[in-house]
Amino acid sequence: MKQEIPVKEKQKYVMTIDDIGVHGEGIGRIDGYTVFVEGALPGEKVRIRVSKAGRNHGYGKLLDIVVPSPDRVLPPCPYTGRCGGCTLQHISYNRQLQFKTRRVRDALERIGKITGVTVHNTVGMDQPWRYRNKAQFPVRMEDGLLSIGFFAPGSHDIVDIDRCLIQHETGDNVIEIIRKFILKYNVPVYDEQTHRGIIRHVVTRMGFKSGQLMVAIVTNGRNLPHSDKLVGLLTTNIPNITSIVQNINDRKTNVILGNENITLWGQGHIVDTLAGLTFKISPLSFYQVNPVQTEILYGKVMEYAALTGRETVIDLYSGIGTISLFLARNAGKVYGIEEVPQAVEDAWENAKLNHISNVEFITGKAEELIPKLVDSGLHADVVVLDPPRKGCEDEVLEALGHMIPQRIVYVSCNPATLARDLKFLTERGYKVEELQPVDMFPHTPHVECVTLMSRL
Ligand code: SAH
Repeated sequence: MKQEIPVKEKQKYVMTIDDIGVHGEGIGRIDGYTVFVEGALPGEKVRIRVSKAGRNHGYGKLLDIVVPSPDRVLPPCPYTGRCGGCTLQHISYNRQLQFKTRRVRDALERIGKITGVTVHNTVGMDQPWRYRNKAQFPVRMEDGLLSIGFFAPGSHDIVDIDRCLIQHETGDNVIEIIRKFILKYNVPVYDEQTHRGIIRHVVTRMGFKSGQLMVAIVTNGRNLPHSDKLVGLLTTNIPNITSIVQNINDRKTNVILGNENITLWGQGHIVDTLAGLTFKISPLSFYQVNPVQTEILYGKVMEYAALTGRETVIDLYSGIGTISLFLARNAGKVYGIEEVPQAVEDAWENAKLNHISNVEFITGKAEELIPKLVDSGLHADVVVLDPPRKGCEDEVLEALGHMIPQRIVYVSCNPATLARDLKFLTERGYKVEELQPVDMFPHTPHVECVTLMSRL
Protein backbone atom coordinates (compact mmCIF):
# COMPACT_ATOMS: atom_id res chain seq x y z
CA MET A 1 0.00 0.00 0.00
CA LYS A 2 1.37 3.40 -0.94
CA GLN A 3 1.83 5.57 2.11
CA GLU A 4 0.83 9.19 2.01
CA ILE A 5 3.64 11.65 2.69
CA PRO A 6 2.14 14.07 5.22
CA VAL A 7 4.31 17.04 4.20
CA LYS A 8 4.79 19.00 1.00
CA GLU A 9 7.99 20.50 -0.31
CA LYS A 10 8.37 24.27 0.18
CA GLN A 11 5.60 24.29 2.83
CA LYS A 12 6.27 25.61 6.32
CA TYR A 13 5.62 23.57 9.47
CA VAL A 14 6.14 23.85 13.19
CA MET A 15 7.59 20.68 14.66
CA THR A 16 9.25 19.28 17.78
CA ILE A 17 12.76 17.85 17.59
CA ASP A 18 13.25 14.74 19.67
CA ASP A 19 16.49 13.18 18.53
CA ILE A 20 19.91 13.90 17.11
CA GLY A 21 21.46 12.21 14.05
CA VAL A 22 25.03 11.03 13.46
CA HIS A 23 26.03 14.37 11.94
CA GLY A 24 24.49 16.33 14.83
CA GLU A 25 21.34 17.22 12.90
CA GLY A 26 17.98 17.45 14.67
CA ILE A 27 15.41 14.74 13.99
CA GLY A 28 11.68 15.04 14.54
CA ARG A 29 8.41 13.72 13.21
CA ILE A 30 5.45 15.35 11.50
CA ASP A 31 2.47 12.96 11.69
CA GLY A 32 4.91 10.08 12.12
CA TYR A 33 7.00 11.14 9.11
CA THR A 34 10.70 11.68 9.91
CA VAL A 35 12.22 15.05 9.08
CA PHE A 36 15.91 15.96 9.48
CA VAL A 37 16.63 19.56 10.41
CA GLU A 38 20.20 20.78 10.49
CA GLY A 39 20.88 23.19 13.34
CA ALA A 40 17.90 22.11 15.46
CA LEU A 41 18.29 20.45 18.84
CA PRO A 42 16.33 17.78 20.73
CA GLY A 43 13.67 19.36 22.93
CA GLU A 44 13.23 22.33 20.60
CA LYS A 45 10.11 23.47 18.86
CA VAL A 46 11.12 24.88 15.49
CA ARG A 47 9.60 26.40 12.37
CA ILE A 48 10.92 24.78 9.21
CA ARG A 49 10.42 24.79 5.46
CA VAL A 50 10.48 21.34 3.90
CA SER A 51 13.29 21.34 1.35
CA LYS A 52 12.93 17.72 0.28
CA ALA A 53 10.20 15.18 0.92
CA GLY A 54 11.38 11.66 0.09
CA ARG A 55 9.32 8.51 0.40
CA ASN A 56 10.66 7.54 3.84
CA HIS A 57 11.94 10.79 5.25
CA GLY A 58 12.39 14.45 4.47
CA TYR A 59 14.65 17.41 5.13
CA GLY A 60 13.69 20.77 6.58
CA LYS A 61 15.44 24.10 6.56
CA LEU A 62 15.43 25.71 9.98
CA LEU A 63 13.55 29.04 9.76
CA ASP A 64 13.29 29.98 13.41
CA ILE A 65 13.33 28.49 16.86
CA VAL A 66 10.00 28.79 18.66
CA VAL A 67 11.16 27.15 21.91
CA PRO A 68 14.94 26.80 22.28
CA SER A 69 16.75 24.00 24.09
CA PRO A 70 18.68 24.88 27.25
CA ASP A 71 21.64 23.20 25.51
CA ARG A 72 21.69 25.83 22.76
CA VAL A 73 24.65 28.23 22.81
CA LEU A 74 25.64 31.10 20.56
CA PRO A 75 28.32 29.87 18.12
CA PRO A 76 31.44 32.03 18.44
CA CYS A 77 32.63 31.42 14.85
CA PRO A 78 31.53 34.04 12.30
CA TYR A 79 31.32 31.40 9.54
CA THR A 80 28.88 29.08 11.32
CA GLY A 81 26.29 27.66 8.96
CA ARG A 82 28.28 28.62 5.86
CA CYS A 83 31.47 26.63 6.51
CA GLY A 84 31.08 22.84 6.43
CA GLY A 85 33.44 22.44 9.40
CA CYS A 86 32.14 22.71 12.96
CA THR A 87 28.51 21.69 12.73
CA LEU A 88 27.99 21.21 16.48
CA GLN A 89 28.96 24.71 17.57
CA HIS A 90 25.40 25.63 18.57
CA ILE A 91 25.37 22.81 21.16
CA SER A 92 26.87 23.30 24.63
CA TYR A 93 30.16 21.47 24.96
CA ASN A 94 28.86 19.11 27.66
CA ARG A 95 25.95 18.11 25.47
CA GLN A 96 28.34 17.53 22.54
CA LEU A 97 30.26 15.08 24.69
CA GLN A 98 27.06 13.24 25.66
CA PHE A 99 26.10 13.10 21.98
CA LYS A 100 29.44 11.48 21.14
CA THR A 101 29.16 8.85 23.86
CA ARG A 102 25.73 7.98 22.55
CA ARG A 103 26.97 7.82 18.96
CA VAL A 104 29.51 5.20 19.97
CA ARG A 105 26.96 3.22 22.01
CA ASP A 106 24.36 3.35 19.22
CA ALA A 107 26.84 2.17 16.58
CA LEU A 108 27.94 -0.66 18.85
CA GLU A 109 24.36 -1.79 19.38
CA ARG A 110 22.91 -1.21 15.91
CA ILE A 111 25.84 -2.18 13.70
CA GLY A 112 27.88 -4.36 16.03
CA LYS A 113 24.87 -6.04 17.70
CA ILE A 114 26.91 -5.76 20.90
CA THR A 115 25.04 -4.86 24.09
CA GLY A 116 25.82 -4.67 27.78
CA VAL A 117 29.36 -3.35 27.27
CA THR A 118 30.59 -0.29 29.18
CA VAL A 119 31.02 2.79 27.02
CA HIS A 120 32.70 5.35 29.27
CA ASN A 121 31.82 9.03 29.10
CA THR A 122 33.68 10.84 26.33
CA VAL A 123 36.78 12.60 27.65
CA GLY A 124 36.47 16.27 26.71
CA MET A 125 38.90 19.17 26.63
CA ASP A 126 39.24 21.93 29.23
CA GLN A 127 39.86 24.42 26.40
CA PRO A 128 38.00 23.07 23.37
CA TRP A 129 39.14 25.81 20.94
CA ARG A 130 42.33 26.38 18.92
CA TYR A 131 43.14 22.71 19.39
CA ARG A 132 44.22 21.67 15.89
CA ASN A 133 47.88 21.51 14.91
CA LYS A 134 47.16 21.01 11.21
CA ALA A 135 45.07 23.01 8.74
CA GLN A 136 44.42 22.43 5.05
CA PHE A 137 43.01 25.47 3.27
CA PRO A 138 41.83 25.20 -0.34
CA VAL A 139 42.69 28.22 -2.51
CA ARG A 140 40.34 29.15 -5.39
CA MET A 141 38.75 32.07 -7.23
CA GLU A 142 35.06 32.47 -6.38
CA ASP A 143 33.20 34.90 -8.64
CA GLY A 144 36.46 36.64 -9.49
CA LEU A 145 37.54 36.96 -5.86
CA LEU A 146 40.43 35.16 -4.23
CA SER A 147 39.07 32.76 -1.62
CA ILE A 148 41.08 30.85 0.97
CA GLY A 149 39.19 28.90 3.57
CA PHE A 150 37.08 25.79 3.80
CA PHE A 151 34.51 24.08 1.63
CA ALA A 152 30.85 24.94 2.19
CA PRO A 153 28.69 21.98 3.32
CA GLY A 154 28.38 19.37 0.58
CA SER A 155 29.97 21.52 -2.13
CA HIS A 156 33.24 22.68 -3.60
CA ASP A 157 32.45 26.36 -3.08
CA ILE A 158 34.88 27.96 -0.72
CA VAL A 159 33.94 30.01 2.29
CA ASP A 160 36.61 32.69 2.42
CA ILE A 161 37.86 33.03 5.99
CA ASP A 162 40.34 35.14 7.88
CA ARG A 163 40.41 33.02 11.03
CA CYS A 164 39.47 29.56 12.19
CA LEU A 165 38.74 29.11 15.88
CA ILE A 166 39.67 25.44 16.04
CA GLN A 167 43.09 25.95 14.43
CA HIS A 168 46.20 27.28 16.03
CA GLU A 169 46.30 31.11 15.63
CA THR A 170 49.38 30.90 13.41
CA GLY A 171 47.20 29.45 10.66
CA ASP A 172 45.28 32.75 10.52
CA ASN A 173 48.52 34.66 9.96
CA VAL A 174 49.64 32.24 7.27
CA ILE A 175 46.41 32.68 5.28
CA GLU A 176 46.79 36.43 5.43
CA ILE A 177 50.32 36.28 4.06
CA ILE A 178 49.47 33.81 1.29
CA ARG A 179 46.57 36.07 0.29
CA LYS A 180 48.93 39.07 0.05
CA PHE A 181 51.47 37.04 -1.92
CA ILE A 182 48.94 35.79 -4.48
CA LEU A 183 47.43 39.25 -5.00
CA LYS A 184 50.71 41.15 -5.11
CA TYR A 185 52.47 38.79 -7.53
CA ASN A 186 49.39 37.72 -9.45
CA VAL A 187 50.04 34.03 -8.99
CA PRO A 188 47.26 32.00 -10.66
CA VAL A 189 45.21 29.85 -8.31
CA TYR A 190 43.92 26.42 -9.21
CA ASP A 191 40.66 25.88 -11.11
CA GLU A 192 39.13 22.44 -10.57
CA GLN A 193 37.03 22.63 -13.74
CA THR A 194 39.83 23.43 -16.18
CA HIS A 195 42.63 21.83 -14.11
CA ARG A 196 44.66 24.97 -14.69
CA GLY A 197 46.23 27.49 -12.36
CA ILE A 198 48.93 26.84 -9.79
CA ILE A 199 48.17 27.15 -6.07
CA ARG A 200 45.72 24.48 -4.89
CA HIS A 201 46.02 24.33 -1.11
CA VAL A 202 47.93 25.75 1.80
CA VAL A 203 48.73 23.27 4.54
CA THR A 204 50.07 24.28 7.95
CA ARG A 205 51.45 21.94 10.57
CA MET A 206 52.52 23.11 13.97
CA GLY A 207 54.31 21.32 16.80
CA PHE A 208 52.37 22.53 19.84
CA LYS A 209 55.16 21.63 22.27
CA SER A 210 58.15 22.48 20.06
CA GLY A 211 56.60 25.58 18.48
CA GLN A 212 57.95 24.48 15.07
CA LEU A 213 55.82 25.35 12.06
CA MET A 214 55.74 23.94 8.53
CA VAL A 215 53.88 25.66 5.71
CA ALA A 216 53.31 23.58 2.59
CA ILE A 217 52.07 25.15 -0.65
CA VAL A 218 50.39 22.56 -2.85
CA THR A 219 50.90 23.38 -6.52
CA ASN A 220 49.54 22.00 -9.77
CA GLY A 221 52.96 21.22 -11.31
CA ARG A 222 56.49 22.26 -10.44
CA ASN A 223 56.22 25.92 -11.39
CA LEU A 224 55.71 28.33 -8.47
CA PRO A 225 56.52 31.87 -9.66
CA HIS A 226 58.13 34.23 -7.13
CA SER A 227 58.66 31.46 -4.60
CA ASP A 228 61.61 33.46 -3.21
CA LYS A 229 59.21 36.32 -2.43
CA LEU A 230 56.86 33.90 -0.70
CA VAL A 231 59.71 32.59 1.43
CA GLY A 232 60.68 36.19 2.26
CA LEU A 233 57.13 37.12 3.29
CA LEU A 234 56.62 34.03 5.45
CA THR A 235 60.00 34.12 7.18
CA THR A 236 59.84 37.82 8.02
CA ASN A 237 56.24 37.76 9.27
CA ILE A 238 56.12 34.43 11.09
CA PRO A 239 58.96 34.12 13.57
CA ASN A 240 58.44 30.48 14.53
CA ILE A 241 58.38 29.11 10.97
CA THR A 242 60.94 26.33 10.54
CA SER A 243 59.99 24.81 7.21
CA ILE A 244 58.50 25.90 3.89
CA VAL A 245 57.70 23.12 1.47
CA GLN A 246 56.25 23.03 -2.03
CA ASN A 247 54.16 19.92 -2.52
CA ILE A 248 53.43 18.97 -6.12
CA ASN A 249 50.02 17.59 -6.95
CA ASP A 250 49.21 17.71 -10.67
CA ARG A 251 46.52 15.04 -10.58
CA LYS A 252 42.80 15.59 -11.09
CA THR A 253 41.82 14.50 -7.61
CA ASN A 254 40.27 15.58 -4.32
CA VAL A 255 43.31 14.19 -2.50
CA ILE A 256 45.11 17.23 -1.15
CA LEU A 257 48.78 16.28 -1.19
CA GLY A 258 50.83 14.92 -4.09
CA ASN A 259 53.79 12.59 -3.61
CA GLU A 260 56.65 15.00 -4.28
CA ASN A 261 57.95 17.66 -1.89
CA ILE A 262 60.50 20.36 -2.58
CA THR A 263 61.92 22.09 0.48
CA LEU A 264 61.91 25.83 -0.31
CA TRP A 265 63.33 26.92 3.01
CA GLY A 266 64.44 25.42 6.32
CA GLN A 267 64.14 21.74 7.18
CA GLY A 268 61.75 19.48 5.26
CA HIS A 269 59.88 18.33 8.39
CA ILE A 270 58.90 19.43 11.88
CA VAL A 271 59.84 17.91 15.20
CA ASP A 272 57.40 17.76 18.10
CA THR A 273 57.20 16.09 21.48
CA LEU A 274 54.28 14.12 22.82
CA ALA A 275 54.14 12.66 26.35
CA GLY A 276 57.90 12.79 26.74
CA LEU A 277 58.87 11.36 23.35
CA THR A 278 60.23 13.26 20.36
CA PHE A 279 58.84 12.81 16.87
CA LYS A 280 60.01 13.86 13.44
CA ILE A 281 57.04 14.43 11.14
CA SER A 282 57.38 14.66 7.34
CA PRO A 283 54.77 16.36 5.15
CA LEU A 284 53.20 13.11 3.93
CA SER A 285 53.16 11.37 7.31
CA PHE A 286 50.09 11.13 9.50
CA TYR A 287 50.22 12.84 12.89
CA GLN A 288 47.23 13.18 15.24
CA VAL A 289 45.74 16.68 14.87
CA ASN A 290 44.83 17.29 18.51
CA PRO A 291 47.99 16.84 20.58
CA VAL A 292 46.36 17.52 23.97
CA GLN A 293 43.80 14.76 23.52
CA THR A 294 46.31 12.47 21.81
CA GLU A 295 48.19 12.15 25.09
CA ILE A 296 44.94 11.02 26.73
CA LEU A 297 44.19 8.65 23.85
CA TYR A 298 47.65 7.06 23.95
CA GLY A 299 47.46 6.85 27.75
CA LYS A 300 44.31 4.78 27.35
CA VAL A 301 45.98 2.55 24.75
CA MET A 302 48.82 2.00 27.21
CA GLU A 303 46.39 1.16 30.04
CA TYR A 304 44.38 -1.28 27.90
CA ALA A 305 47.55 -2.92 26.54
CA ALA A 306 48.46 -3.69 30.21
CA LEU A 307 52.07 -4.51 29.38
CA THR A 308 54.48 -6.01 31.90
CA GLY A 309 57.69 -5.52 29.92
CA ARG A 310 57.91 -8.94 28.26
CA GLU A 311 55.17 -8.88 25.64
CA THR A 312 55.44 -8.91 21.88
CA VAL A 313 53.20 -6.21 20.43
CA ILE A 314 52.07 -5.51 16.87
CA ASP A 315 51.02 -1.92 16.15
CA LEU A 316 49.07 -2.02 12.91
CA TYR A 317 48.67 1.25 10.96
CA SER A 318 51.57 2.69 12.90
CA GLY A 319 52.18 6.01 11.08
CA ILE A 320 55.39 7.62 12.35
CA GLY A 321 55.58 5.08 15.16
CA THR A 322 53.96 7.11 17.92
CA ILE A 323 51.99 4.30 19.59
CA SER A 324 54.74 1.74 18.87
CA LEU A 325 57.33 3.83 20.68
CA PHE A 326 55.08 4.53 23.67
CA LEU A 327 54.38 0.83 24.07
CA ALA A 328 58.00 -0.18 23.46
CA ARG A 329 59.00 1.38 26.77
CA ASN A 330 56.95 -1.34 28.52
CA ALA A 331 57.18 -4.21 26.03
CA GLY A 332 59.62 -6.90 24.98
CA LYS A 333 59.36 -6.12 21.28
CA VAL A 334 57.06 -3.98 19.14
CA TYR A 335 56.45 -4.36 15.41
CA GLY A 336 54.89 -1.39 13.58
CA ILE A 337 53.22 -1.88 10.20
CA GLU A 338 52.45 1.09 7.95
CA GLU A 339 51.93 1.55 4.21
CA VAL A 340 53.34 5.07 3.67
CA PRO A 341 57.13 4.72 3.12
CA GLN A 342 57.90 8.25 4.32
CA ALA A 343 56.05 7.61 7.60
CA VAL A 344 58.03 4.38 8.11
CA GLU A 345 61.28 6.29 7.50
CA ASP A 346 60.14 8.81 10.13
CA ALA A 347 59.30 5.94 12.49
CA TRP A 348 62.81 4.42 12.26
CA GLU A 349 64.32 7.82 12.85
CA ASN A 350 61.98 8.45 15.78
CA ALA A 351 63.11 5.19 17.38
CA LYS A 352 66.70 6.45 17.14
CA LEU A 353 65.82 9.94 18.40
CA ASN A 354 64.29 8.39 21.51
CA HIS A 355 66.98 5.71 21.96
CA ILE A 356 64.45 2.91 21.64
CA SER A 357 65.81 -0.26 20.05
CA ASN A 358 63.17 -2.94 20.71
CA VAL A 359 61.04 -1.85 17.72
CA GLU A 360 60.89 -2.82 14.08
CA PHE A 361 58.90 -1.06 11.37
CA ILE A 362 57.68 -2.79 8.25
CA THR A 363 56.41 -0.99 5.15
CA GLY A 364 53.35 -2.44 3.50
CA LYS A 365 49.62 -2.92 3.56
CA ALA A 366 48.34 -4.45 6.79
CA GLU A 367 46.00 -6.77 4.86
CA GLU A 368 48.91 -8.18 2.86
CA LEU A 369 51.54 -8.33 5.59
CA ILE A 370 49.60 -9.64 8.58
CA PRO A 371 48.37 -12.89 7.01
CA LYS A 372 51.96 -13.60 5.88
CA LEU A 373 53.42 -12.82 9.29
CA VAL A 374 50.87 -15.08 10.97
CA ASP A 375 51.69 -17.88 8.50
CA SER A 376 55.38 -17.46 9.25
CA GLY A 377 54.63 -18.07 12.92
CA LEU A 378 54.80 -14.53 14.35
CA HIS A 379 52.75 -14.38 17.52
CA ALA A 380 51.87 -11.22 19.42
CA ASP A 381 50.52 -10.97 22.94
CA VAL A 382 48.89 -7.62 22.22
CA VAL A 383 47.77 -6.13 18.90
CA VAL A 384 46.96 -2.45 18.48
CA LEU A 385 44.81 -1.42 15.52
CA ASP A 386 44.50 2.22 14.44
CA PRO A 387 43.13 2.10 10.89
CA PRO A 388 41.84 4.98 8.74
CA ARG A 389 38.10 5.79 8.67
CA LYS A 390 37.19 2.80 6.52
CA GLY A 391 38.33 0.42 9.25
CA CYS A 392 40.22 -2.86 8.85
CA GLU A 393 40.15 -5.14 5.83
CA ASP A 394 38.61 -8.56 6.50
CA GLU A 395 42.01 -10.19 5.83
CA VAL A 396 43.47 -8.35 8.82
CA LEU A 397 40.70 -9.40 11.19
CA GLU A 398 40.69 -12.94 9.84
CA ALA A 399 44.45 -13.20 10.46
CA LEU A 400 43.99 -11.94 14.03
CA GLY A 401 41.45 -14.71 14.52
CA HIS A 402 44.31 -17.16 13.81
CA MET A 403 47.03 -15.35 15.73
CA ILE A 404 44.95 -15.11 18.92
CA PRO A 405 46.74 -12.39 20.90
CA GLN A 406 45.63 -11.99 24.54
CA ARG A 407 44.34 -8.49 23.93
CA ILE A 408 43.41 -6.30 21.00
CA VAL A 409 43.33 -2.54 21.50
CA TYR A 410 41.38 -0.91 18.67
CA VAL A 411 41.75 2.86 18.15
CA SER A 412 39.11 4.19 15.77
CA CYS A 413 37.92 7.52 14.40
CA ASN A 414 34.72 6.05 12.96
CA PRO A 415 32.18 4.36 15.26
CA ALA A 416 30.39 2.69 12.31
CA THR A 417 33.41 0.79 10.95
CA LEU A 418 34.61 0.15 14.50
CA ALA A 419 31.32 -1.54 15.36
CA ARG A 420 31.43 -3.59 12.15
CA ASP A 421 34.97 -4.79 12.88
CA LEU A 422 34.23 -5.53 16.54
CA LYS A 423 31.31 -7.71 15.44
CA PHE A 424 33.64 -9.59 13.09
CA LEU A 425 36.13 -10.16 15.91
CA THR A 426 33.48 -11.24 18.43
CA GLU A 427 32.61 -13.99 15.95
CA ARG A 428 36.27 -15.10 16.02
CA GLY A 429 36.97 -15.64 19.68
CA TYR A 430 37.15 -12.16 21.18
CA LYS A 431 35.10 -10.32 23.73
CA VAL A 432 34.63 -6.55 23.86
CA GLU A 433 35.58 -5.44 27.37
CA GLU A 434 35.04 -1.67 27.31
CA LEU A 435 35.22 1.46 25.17
CA GLN A 436 36.61 4.90 25.93
CA PRO A 437 35.60 7.69 23.54
CA VAL A 438 37.94 10.70 23.48
CA ASP A 439 36.95 14.05 22.01
CA MET A 440 39.72 14.77 19.55
CA PHE A 441 37.52 17.01 17.39
CA PRO A 442 35.39 19.38 19.52
CA HIS A 443 32.49 21.13 17.72
CA THR A 444 32.48 18.53 14.94
CA PRO A 445 30.47 15.27 15.02
CA HIS A 446 33.67 13.20 14.85
CA VAL A 447 34.65 11.02 17.76
CA GLU A 448 37.72 8.93 18.46
CA CYS A 449 37.41 5.78 20.53
CA VAL A 450 39.71 3.21 22.16
CA THR A 451 38.32 -0.29 22.61
CA LEU A 452 39.71 -3.14 24.66
CA MET A 453 39.05 -6.68 23.47
CA SER A 454 40.28 -9.84 25.11
CA ARG A 455 40.47 -13.47 24.09
CA LEU A 456 37.51 -15.54 25.20
N1 SAH B 1 48.77 5.08 14.89
C1 SAH B 1 49.27 6.24 14.19
C2 SAH B 1 48.64 6.45 12.80
C3 SAH B 1 47.17 6.25 12.69
S1 SAH B 1 46.43 6.87 11.22
C4 SAH B 1 49.09 7.49 15.04
O1 SAH B 1 48.40 7.47 16.05
O2 SAH B 1 49.70 8.51 14.70
C5 SAH B 1 46.32 5.48 10.21
C6 SAH B 1 47.61 5.12 9.51
O3 SAH B 1 47.35 3.96 8.70
C7 SAH B 1 48.15 6.18 8.54
O4 SAH B 1 49.49 6.42 8.83
C8 SAH B 1 47.99 5.53 7.15
O5 SAH B 1 49.03 5.88 6.27
C9 SAH B 1 48.05 4.06 7.48
N2 SAH B 1 47.37 3.13 6.57
C10 SAH B 1 46.22 3.34 5.88
N3 SAH B 1 45.85 2.21 5.23
C11 SAH B 1 46.77 1.27 5.53
C12 SAH B 1 46.92 -0.12 5.17
N4 SAH B 1 46.04 -0.72 4.39
N5 SAH B 1 47.99 -0.78 5.68
C13 SAH B 1 48.89 -0.18 6.48
N6 SAH B 1 48.80 1.13 6.84
C14 SAH B 1 47.75 1.84 6.39
